[in-house]
Amino acid sequence: PEKYDVIIIGGGPIGIACGLAAKKSGLNYLILEKGCLTNSLYNYPLNMTFFSTSEKLEIGGIPFVSNSAKPNRAEALEYYRRVVFSNELPIHLFEEAKKVASFDEGYKVTTNKKSYLSTHLIIATGFYDIPVMMDVVGEELPKVTHYYKDPHFYAGQKVLVIGANNSAADAALETWRKGAEVTLVIRGPELGRIKYWTKPDLENRINEGSIKALFNSTVKEIREKEVAILTPEGAKIIENDFVIAMTGYQPNFPFLKSIGINLSDDEKLYPAYDKETMETNLKNVYLAGVVCGGMDTHIWFIENSREHADRIIEKIKGVPV
Ligand code: FAD
Repeated sequence: PEKYDVIIIGGGPIGIACGLAAKKSGLNYLILEKGCLTNSLYNYPLNMTFFSTSEKLEIGGIPFVSNSAKPNRAEALEYYRRVVFSNELPIHLFEEAKKVASFDEGYKVTTNKKSYLSTHLIIATGFYDIPVMMDVVGEELPKVTHYYKDPHFYAGQKVLVIGANNSAADAALETWRKGAEVTLVIRGPELGRIKYWTKPDLENRINEGSIKALFNSTVKEIREKEVAILTPEGAKIIENDFVIAMTGYQPNFPFLKSIGINLSDDEKLYPAYDKETMETNLKNVYLAGVVCGGMDTHIWFIENSREHADRIIEKIKGVPV
């Protein structure tokens, strides 16, 4: 098999940042991405706007030019694609790392296409592939999605949005503005982490009654034409056409475990790694990006985890990048 100094698993913003740092340091490296380039960003809602300003999404010091303060999905796809192509980063798309095994001098990575050997491994696999399931009856119905894309589809429909954070707020507001009848179900007593410019909009829609919000409530069952919700006032059955479950996402823990990376034994499942070098409990295996947070997927994002790239390459080379 081909042999590399570094194999980077995951072609999201942080995997690409690791590629740029590896290139700068003259390492022989390869990026493996199981989907299209920046697969997670590609699968974001079509109209999403980043909460970060463009300079905070920059990697490798390459300017991200955007006309508005906060770029949108299309601009980010454009930026990261240009970064990858103009720097000629070696990246294999639609190639998924399936298995990692150690051998004398490093690791053997087997994908859906072939096998590679590498001295070092960087796991930058993100969190967007696996939704956090509610485990309620009916969740598998085709009318339920964990990936909201575009509001037009829901025009004139009765839509239940589940969740208290950004994704739920965006889905509720957008679909309501395109003529959906929206009910928002929130497990806790209040709205959660919502962009500061979106929150008042949602609060106003809830206060005026345009969007119905049920707090301290949970979905009990999803049926073809209705949903059952447990509220503080008792069980409620409401008519329903579609459910947008914005219940969050989680890293691929079975994959991390199969490699041999230790996870904390609480419900957070924090993977073990050194805060300075990003090296895991396995020698020469590093973590980068949002995967580092375990179930706390909100603690790492692009603007605070892009620096993982330089720290890892510095450790590998033994000199600053
Ligand atoms: P990802 O972008 O998730 O990349 C991981 C990649 O690894 C994916 O492309 C995936 O396909 C690939 N992969 C997974 N497993 C394998 C495998 N076995 N083999 C090969 N490839 C694999 N962050 C910000 O900083 N600012 C924002 O404004 C912001 N807005 C957001 C809005 C939304 C709607 C969401 C969902 C997230 C937002 N985030 C934001 C968080 C942001 O998504 C993450 O910070 C960012 O994507 C992390 O980059 P990453 O490279 O660590 O992971």
